[in-house]
Amino acid sequence: MSTIERASRAEGRAAYRAIPLYEGGHYGRVEIDLSDNTNQWGTPPAAARALSQLPTSAAARYPAAYAPELARAIADYAGVSPDMVVTGCGSDQILDCAFRALAEPGEAVAYADPSFVIVPSFVRANSLRPVPVPWRVGGTPDAPTLLLDEPALLATGARIIYLCSPNNPTGTVIEPASLERVIADAPGIVVIDEAYVEFAGWSAVSLLPEAPHVIVTRTFSKAFGLAGLRIGYALGAPSLVRELAKARGPYALSAWSEPAATAALAGDLEWMRSRVAEAVDARNRLSGALTERGWRVYPSGANFVLAVPGEGLPAAQAIARALRESGIAVRAFSALPGIGGALRITVAPWPQLERLLHALPARGAAA
Ligand code: PMP
Repeated sequence: MSTIERASRAEGRAAYRAIPLYEGGHYGRVEIDLSDNTNQWGTPPAAARALSQLPTSAAARYPAAYAPELARAIADYAGVSPDMVVTGCGSDQILDCAFRALAEPGEAVAYADPSFVIVPSFVRANSLRPVPVPWRVGGTPDAPTLLLDEPALLATGARIIYLCSPNNPTGTVIEPASLERVIADAPGIVVIDEAYVEFAGWSAVSLLPEAPHVIVTRTFSKAFGLAGLRIGYALGAPSLVRELAKARGPYALSAWSEPAATAALAGDLEWMRSRVAEAVDARNRLSGALTERGWRVYPSGANFVLAVPGEGLPAAQAIARALRESGIAVRAFSALPGIGGALRITVAPWPQLERLLHALPARGAAA
């Protein structure tokens, strides 16, 4: 067989060619990285201690197949029973598994658009159909708010409705009444992504006892400051959680992830809550400062804000490039549906945000 013939066989599934490789998170070394919504206050101390005490010999052995100790600690933290918890390699893996385990190939996954950028890729990678549904716009032109279009989402008849609250990249917290309406009338499964829930203060977990068709996904990557360890989890009815565990397979958490996250839940809740309070404070200050400088800022319940440069300011991509040159990374979007060019800025200790504000162009710089 010739090399050309062999190369023609070395192709993946045709449908995968249209799926983009994820392109966030490659900003390299920058002085201040406000691009990925991780915890800018660092690693929590009890988790760090647990990591430093682990013998390197642990690397030679498999960890527990389904991280049961951590599942028990998460159950306690979330107020559910342990058989309602499944962990995974980041909530990325959990979402991927939920789509694979809970829908038949060819079925639809509907979501409010824009939302978590990787979701349509996971949907297509699992032979499902992404169905974006635009947010409804409320508020005023200067201070818009985004509202869930429940009738449009429900009218898709999708097997899975994915909702993210607070939503990445807009920061939108979905009104509990909207969420309850979708949960009540959804024809299939509802997946609620609560990656940023600790910053918002309201969780859909309280609805789970009455909603066996709902899965809530969460992560240790944001408020808990453990993004590098890759730990996510899902909460839901035991029968659904079991199906997710099958899709996930054994050993998804490393020998370091389970003890570190378990230690964080045992010893770092106070650390986490005080950092969250600081982040919320910094977020509100940052939103106010950007609004004063002529940006349109979307209300956020997360540890980031989405801001659209107003009249007289350069385009979002150009501002992101200029910031990068002064050592600051933010996430730029060139054309979000219904929003346009925007920057998503992760909240950090105030001195870093002050540096950002100083580095931003003044009005009139667009000319
Ligand atoms: N969901 C949302 C909304 C996110 O923003 C992210 C991180 N960017 C994730 C899930 C995935 O987080 P992780 O895999 O680190 O748990």
